[in-house]
Amino acid sequence: MEEFDVIILGGGAAALSAGLYSTRAMQKTLILERLGYGGQILVTDMIENYPGFPEGIRGPELSTLMEQQTRRFGADMRYEEVLSVEKLDQPLKLVHTSEASYAGKTVIIATGGSHKKLGVPGEDQLSGKGVSYCAVCDGNFFRGQDVVVVGGGDAALDEGGYLTGLVNKVTVIHRRDQLRASRILQERSFNNPKMEFLWSHVVEEFQGGVELETALVRNLKTAEVYKLPTAGAFIYIGFESNSGFLKGHVPMDELGHIETNISMETAIPGVYACGDIRVNSDRQLGNAVGDGITAALSAYRHITEGS
Ligand code: NAP
Repeated sequence: MEEFDVIILGGGAAALSAGLYSTRAMQKTLILERLGYGGQILVTDMIENYPGFPEGIRGPELSTLMEQQTRRFGADMRYEEVLSVEKLDQPLKLVHTSEASYAGKTVIIATGGSHKKLGVPGEDQLSGKGVSYCAVCDGNFFRGQDVVVVGGGDAALDEGGYLTGLVNKVTVIHRRDQLRASRILQERSFNNPKMEFLWSHVVEEFQGGVELETALVRNLKTAEVYKLPTAGAFIYIGFESNSGFLKGHVPMDELGHIETNISMETAIPGVYACGDIRVNSDRQLGNAVGDGITAALSAYRHITEGS
C-alpha cells in the first residue's frame, strides 16, 4: 500500500491550499478528487470577493491557476472517489478509494458540500433535462428562453445574474418575501431588468415529458397553486456536507459538518477538516483557503513534532 505524509480528501480551494503548503513543506502529499479541481469555484462564473483581483476572476480560471500552483510544488493529484476511511485513530490512517487504498500519517478532510435538492416530484426525473444545479455548466442550453432560479441566498442571486447574460428572463422563486443574500447582490438583482422575483412561493413539482415544461408553484400567502411554464430550473437552496462516508469515524454535527478547533484539528490526532465541510465555516473562498493552510501547518507540526 502506498504511504503518504499527508492525504487530502477533496480538490476544492481548501484542499488545493492545504496541498500547496504541505508540498512546499516537503511532505509527501496525495490529493484525491472525484470530479474536477476547484470544487465550488470551478462551477462559479465570476468571483468578485477574492482579494487581489479588483476586476474579479472567472471561477474556472482561478481553479486552473490554483491547481497548477499546487502541482508545481509536487503534489500527487489523482482523480479517485474516496469511498471509506479506516483506523483514523492509528498512526497510519487508511483511505480507500474507487481505485486503491492508501496509508497516511495525517488526513485532511476537505470534501466540501453539494447543492441541496428540493426533494419535490419530478426533480430527479427532469434533472439534466431542464432541472439543474449549475448555471455555469448548463446555462448555455437555455439561450433566449425563460428560466427560474429557486432560492434567496448569494448563490441564487449570483448565478441568476450570470444566467441573465444568456437567457431571456430569470424568475427567482423564493419562499419568503425577504432575501438572505448580501445587500450588494440584492441591489444588483433588483436593478437587473431581466430578473424578476416571485416572493413567498415554493415549487411543489416539476412537470414535463422529455424535457422540463412547467414548475407547479404554490403562493404561500394565498395558498394558490398554479403552473409556471419554464424551460429551465436552477436550484440554489444551500449546501449539504459531503461527509456521509465519515459518519462514525469523525465527530460531526447533525448536518454533517465536522467539528474542529481553530487549528483545524478534529478530536482525532492527525485528522483535520477545513473549508465548507467544517462546523462554523462562513463558506467563503477566502475562508477555505485560510482553513486549508492552517490544516496543512497543523499536519506538518503533527508529523514533525508529534503535536
Ligand atoms: P444559503 O445562504 O443557505 O441560502 C439558501 C437559500 O435557499 C435561502 O434563501 C433559503 O431560504 C432557501 N431555501 C433553503 N431550503 C429551501 C427549500 N427547501 N425550499 C425553498 N427554498 C429553500 O445557500 P447558498 O446561497 O447556496 O450559499 C451558501 C454559502 O455560499 C453562503 O455562505 C454564501 O454566502 C456562499 N456564497 C455562494 C456564492 C455562489 O454560490 N455563487 C457566492 C458567494 C457566496 P430562507 O432564506 O427562507 O432560509
